[in-house]
Amino acid sequence: MAEMEVRGMFVETETLKMPQLKYLRQYHATSLIKDGVIQVKKSRAEVCMAAALHVCTFQKLAVEGSLYPEVTVLSWVQCDHCNGWLHTDCAGVQEKSLKGSFNCGCQLPLQRSFDRTRVALQQKGIGGLIEDSGIVDLHDALLSRQQRSCRMYLWEHPETSLRLKQLCKPRSLFFSEDDTNQLAEKIKRALKLSDDPDMVNFMFDIMIPEVTIKILMTHEGFCRYKAELCLQSGNLTP
Ligand SMILES: [Zn+2]
Ligand SMILES: [Zn+2]
Repeated sequence: MAEMEVRGMFVETETLKMPQLKYLRQYHATSLIKDGVIQVKKSRAEVCMAAALHVCTFQKLAVEGSLYPEVTVLSWVQCDHCNGWLHTDCAGVQEKSLKGSFNCGCQLPLQRSFDRTRVALQQKGIGGLIEDSGIVDLHDALLSRQQRSCRMYLWEHPETSLRLKQLCKPRSLFFSEDDTNQLAEKIKRALKLSDDPDMVNFMFDIMIPEVTIKILMTHEGFCRYKAELCLQSGNLTP
């Protein structure tokens, strides 16, 4: 009404009745908080930004169906900066823990220097990046599907899509060769993995990328999607 007055439009001076006042109060309250509240939606037909990286947890398959077909209610979160959508699983956030706003990391330069990770590595070595218990917890979460991951799904269902499995493989090492070998040794010890060739594949296709994502989320404060983006486009060596 105030807006109409400012624009010089004729406004009736009729006294507002209770239902109208209630509506106006609600309208103003929702307008005020609209911009500051995180957008979470269920089963919305959006395109997940992680799909472009071939790492979306629920990506559609070429023939039919999608990964994790048993999950029918998908929850989504919107970046308040670029307005892009991500599944909460692809963003690596839990709906319950979302407070205030969500940012996918799009405002950060892609080729950033990963300073905090590098400093931790220089000061304490690979052991300074993640504890053995952190690796065990991550492994348990992946096996129990508490942490969903396209890599893990494709490992458990190798018949799903060979092409996708190939696309999800790391293209380059994020850490130097020496550090990657040390990380592999650490994961192998923590999870008591054998030297079986299958376990070697499990290490390089699943655990090293997933552990690296967890390291970047912890040290740099990235969301899972941003960590995936770094994994595909950068490495720690300056
Ligand atoms: Zn997704
Ligand atoms: Zn964004």
